[in-house]
Amino acid sequence: MAAQRVAVRPEEIRRHNLSRLLRSIHQHGELTRADLTAAMGLNRSTIGALVADLVALGLVTEYVPSGGDRAGRPSHVVAPRPDGPYVLAVDVAVERIVTAAVGLGGTVLERRDTAIEGPDRRPQAVVGRIVSDAGWLADRLPGSQGPVGIGVSIPGTVRRQDGFVEHAPNLGWRAVPFAELLAAAMPARLDVQVGNDADLGAVAEHQRGAAIGYDHMVYLNGSVGVGSGIIAEGGQLHGVGGYAGEIGHMTINPDGPPCHCGSTGCIETYIGEHALLRAAGVPDRHGPRAVAAVFEAAAAGERRAADAVGTVALWLGRSLANVVNCFNPQAIVVGGSLAEVVRLDRATVEAELDRRAMAAARAGVQVLLPGLDQDSALIGAAELAFQSLLTSPDSLVGSFAAN
Ligand SMILES: [Zn+2]
Repeated sequence: MAAQRVAVRPEEIRRHNLSRLLRSIHQHGELTRADLTAAMGLNRSTIGALVADLVALGLVTEYVPSGGDRAGRPSHVVAPRPDGPYVLAVDVAVERIVTAAVGLGGTVLERRDTAIEGPDRRPQAVVGRIVSDAGWLADRLPGSQGPVGIGVSIPGTVRRQDGFVEHAPNLGWRAVPFAELLAAAMPARLDVQVGNDADLGAVAEHQRGAAIGYDHMVYLNGSVGVGSGIIAEGGQLHGVGGYAGEIGHMTINPDGPPCHCGSTGCIETYIGEHALLRAAGVPDRHGPRAVAAVFEAAAAGERRAADAVGTVALWLGRSLANVVNCFNPQAIVVGGSLAEVVRLDRATVEAELDRRAMAAARAGVQVLLPGLDQDSALIGAAELAFQSLLTSPDSLVGSFAAN
């Protein structure tokens, strides 16, 4: 059979390879030219030319490793440029806002954590906080090329294409055009991307955390609210509108407690922080300190607190069994305060999985703790913000010049 002739323009190939190269360096932090040559299947001179392009764009730097005991000429190391562009990553959670400057390679350069409550959660207040944090971060990175985008994690249902927040029940938001509000408030024109916290956490744990190499994984994030992000066949499962993964709002008892989403007996009402506090006998107190106090008491063997953690662990195991039966993942990463439930009472979680998940799917799954601790959603927000630069590394030249 005659080979089909495909017309491919050399410039398109170069841009495609430039993007692949930058993605590799972003993923691994730094790589030798020899690693890049092997990984990309291109010859050494092509790699050399592409690296020179990325150096000229101000994105990466090259150095020759000194010393070492390897014989022969050492291969040049290609690394993200320390004073190169960064993205603003924002994690808007129910009790805190974290804003960070994250460089290529996923390095957090600077960060600011702020506790929030009541009126601080209003959309305009959150926008104001992010604008102020962005200025604070820029002041601390004076030599940098500045931010090239913003990624924001929101604990709610987010329409992916335009960052419109349909419903963030635990922030009290409904129908908030958040990306639009933030873009309008930023002093410089920046690409604003908004995603769901658990979706972003899944991406981050898959790329940089506990689930590297697991192309079928679920990240279950549980604090006040409970949500999940799903990686299937190595890609994200979004659903048609981007709302997939609301495992916290699967009904497990229609006669159960009322949920913020408007339904009753959702998983969240059994494993969210309010359920833990209720079971521990402290329903009138809330917030991270009250939750931490229950965990401390449980770890110290205090009966009521340990029983409360055990009850949440039981329902967590049941929830995970449903996840295993639906998605047949290799790994489930349990994040947020639910990670502490797994640490304190893994036996109950695993026993309930044994009891309720289908045997074949159960046999292939591990329950893991996050590799990025409390920063999964934050790092995922950075990944979202980096996408346009990674896709077109030479697209931002104009905006650097403008800054
Ligand atoms: Zn619900």
